[in-house]
Amino acid sequence: MSQPRYIYPFEEGDGRDKMRLGGKGANLCTMMQIGLDVPPGFVITTDACLAYLDAQALPPGLMAEVRASVAALERKTGKGFGNAANPLLVSVRSGSAMSMPGMMDTILNLGLNPATLQGLIAQTGNPRFAYDAWRRFVQLFGKIAMGVPDDAFDAAMVTLKKKTGATQDVDLSADALSMLADDFLALYVAHTGSPFPADPYEQLELAIAAVFRSWNGKRAIDYRRQFRITPAMANGTAVNVCTMVFGNMGEDSATGVGFTRNPATGENAIYGEYLTNAQGEDVVAGIRTPKPIAAMAQEMPDLHSQLVALRDRLEAHYHEVQDFEFTIEKGRLYCLQTRNGKMNARAMVRTSVEMAQEGLVTMAQALLRINPMLLEQLLVPTLAPGHARKALAQGLPASPGAASGRIVFDADTAEQRAKEGEKVILVREETKPEDIHGFFAAEGILTSRGGKTSHAAVVARGMGKPCVSGCEAIHIDVRARHAEVGGTVLREGDIITLDGTTGNVYPGKIPTVEAEFFPELVTLLEWADANARLRVKANADTPADAVRARKYGAKGIGLARTERMFNDPARLPIVQEMILADTPEARKSALDRLLPIQRGDFKGIFTAMAGLPVTVRLLDPPMHEFLPTAAQLEYEISHLRTLPRMGRSIADLPETLRLIDPELPRDYVDSLGKLGQSLAEYRESKRDDAALVRREAMLKKVHQLTEVNPMLGHRGVRLGMTYPEIYEMQIRAIMEAAAECMLEGIDARPEIMVPQVATAEELKRVRAIVDAVRAEIEQRHGVRLHFNFGSMVEVVRACLRAARLAEIAEFFSFGTNDLSQATFSFSREDAENKFLPFYIETGILRDNPFEVLDIYGVGELMKLAVEWGRAARPDLEIGICGEHGGHPDSVRFCHDIGLDYVSCSAPRVPIARLAAAQAKLRVTGAKAAA
Ligand code: ADP
Ligand code: MG
Ligand code: MG
Repeated sequence: MSQPRYIYPFEEGDGRDKMRLGGKGANLCTMMQIGLDVPPGFVITTDACLAYLDAQALPPGLMAEVRASVAALERKTGKGFGNAANPLLVSVRSGSAMSMPGMMDTILNLGLNPATLQGLIAQTGNPRFAYDAWRRFVQLFGKIAMGVPDDAFDAAMVTLKKKTGATQDVDLSADALSMLADDFLALYVAHTGSPFPADPYEQLELAIAAVFRSWNGKRAIDYRRQFRITPAMANGTAVNVCTMVFGNMGEDSATGVGFTRNPATGENAIYGEYLTNAQGEDVVAGIRTPKPIAAMAQEMPDLHSQLVALRDRLEAHYHEVQDFEFTIEKGRLYCLQTRNGKMNARAMVRTSVEMAQEGLVTMAQALLRINPMLLEQLLVPTLAPGHARKALAQGLPASPGAASGRIVFDADTAEQRAKEGEKVILVREETKPEDIHGFFAAEGILTSRGGKTSHAAVVARGMGKPCVSGCEAIHIDVRARHAEVGGTVLREGDIITLDGTTGNVYPGKIPTVEAEFFPELVTLLEWADANARLRVKANADTPADAVRARKYGAKGIGLARTERMFNDPARLPIVQEMILADTPEARKSALDRLLPIQRGDFKGIFTAMAGLPVTVRLLDPPMHEFLPTAAQLEYEISHLRTLPRMGRSIADLPETLRLIDPELPRDYVDSLGKLGQSLAEYRESKRDDAALVRREAMLKKVHQLTEVNPMLGHRGVRLGMTYPEIYEMQIRAIMEAAAECMLEGIDARPEIMVPQVATAEELKRVRAIVDAVRAEIEQRHGVRLHFNFGSMVEVVRACLRAARLAEIAEFFSFGTNDLSQATFSFSREDAENKFLPFYIETGILRDNPFEVLDIYGVGELMKLAVEWGRAARPDLEIGICGEHGGHPDSVRFCHDIGLDYVSCSAPRVPIARLAAAQAKLRVTGAKAAA
């Protein structure tokens, strides 16, 4: 068997074979083959690299192939490798299938030695240029091929500049550079213990081996681990040997880098920088300040138009924005590298739309080229670019966006200060459902505990407010009303800035820039809707949320949680009264007061969503969530109990104190007297008794309601079964709101959804309430109500009994948060606080199932439920309303298993819209390819 071919000249390599040629090599081949001006060269494959690493030696025959390839270069260029009269110089460049900054740098000007150096001087008549090339080569070869430390070279350069009075590299004369090169050579010998190799082939062989070794260098290995680059993505590095072209041959020479379009704005104009009379990395290294490419139109108009032509050819070929390197040697433009340009989200969107409009890409390509998660950046406020503030601490980026405000340590203070017109940031160890009014009031939320799916994170994301969670460096002392981070003390009222996109917390105020739906984003999302099968709805609990959901393009509300309305501080006392009620009558009286409030809420949402469906979920959480904790109540009760005793002691206090100090000042005694008196008044009015009685009753109820596993306890439809009057009130509120809307000509489209359903009988009983209330309201208002009745599917049994449930439910909505907990038998909080991080770090689980839908387990149950549900009711509408509904991979899965819609928090709606289009386009694309 003949040995594999290790070398491909740029004219022959297959540009699609990035695994073998590396990204840089593959594109050099392509550019050469489509007729762009690329200096001749060849690629040594990654196979050769792997063979070298395996055997710790260059594979047999490789150097013979290298010599033959160099000979071919000599023929193409008319120069000779090591030929003093007309020397061929090359660069040796690494390049794997994935771009990896951790890898080896490039050696330029290889082939120089004392003889070819003199040849170069004679040939160019430019000794300064030649010595400049020589000293660069000695340094690069020494550092990269032989590991001579950079500092040694840099120090020599600094000394020389001092000696000659030069401030910049370009100020150095030919003589100075010649001296520098001699210093460098001495350093080389001192560090390597051997003379600098003069034979160009020896230089080349050492350089190739060094590039191969760099694949297993620490930097490269760390980088691959960090970015999870597997051997399937990139295995070994290729080596590109490329004829040198010189941007440092005078004022008609230059080197530069460019983007075919502006990577920050997407504007369709060539963007980049160049330096005249410079080589290689001078532009990036910042040795001199480069000029914008626009300046070239004046300075070198002919070359500027050549550059524009190059840009057009690159885009026409790659159908993608390119990031390229070029060098101009004595008025001739060469392209040295190209790759797909990395852009920010805004530029991705604008270039997608414009390239499609220009006919450069199809609409499908325009939609597929954007990672949906990128859109998140566009829809939230961001910190004004260019701020130079240093972060105080970093937590988890739990909900994107940026905000500044004054620190408050509890929800009540947040609400109060916000009412006074202040911007506040709620800072807590962790948040609870009863903090909800604080979320409404705050600009952003910071917690010192909890993960990306903690209560704070989920609620903040739902409201589209920035949140940094789990910021463990911050120590909060709520009683003392201050927090401490790394020696800095933050007091209530101090201003901080949060960046929920990065997790950073800054002291003071940093200006932010608002997000906007710019025209290209609107167009792109319209295209997405036109190409998607899945509809995207939003989870929204208030009329304000609903308005925002519409703005983000939601096709309805897939989940309106009624309990969020219960938590409003004006209503909570009534809700508590309902819970504390001992008789059905007492409960009824509280419910009667809640009814008009809920009806108003629903009317608001239906109006904001007129013409689109609104799925209202009946009450779901366990009752105790609306009551204070037992610990809090016990604390308050013990204080109230000490009051009578305290009153007596204060009355006695002046006497007691006089025993110690007969001279006790008069006003001191008076004020103690006043205090005693007002305590006595409280006692007389029995207000302390009333407060005590209320709390004791509440505590009793809290004890009664205590459950070992509240999430698996008395909640959801189970509440509806035991306290049917609560569900009845909610159903009535929904229907009355719908009826009133109808009479006012508003197209309300309610859907009633029952949570936690496990058996058909539960659903049947709620349905019976629905039917009774409906009949009554239709008669009273003289209207015919149109609505759907359906079930959440979030209990394992519901999946298994889907056929039976579908006989009663007109729609299903997967509650994948609870369904994931139930399928894994993990309680989310415990899992995330205790073992889940370990599971993910050690690879027992690949992802957090509460962030990324587990399609293998939970997904199988969903598939069953879809299949069995539709078998019983072919037009069963099926959606998902868990947090997962806004995650692109989950959206794709939902498309694949045939759901009708996904519902997610409003800010995620655009992400889901794009993901839904991509899901369908990928399936169509795969079919077309098959
Ligand atoms: P990197 O991947 O770090 O950009 P490159 O191999 O592209 O490394 O090279 C580093 C610099 O040297 C770039 O500015 C590149 O344009 C320049 N360069 C590489 N090869 C040549 C060559 N044959 N002639 C002129 N400049 C070159
Ligand atoms: Mg490069
Ligand atoms: Mg649930």
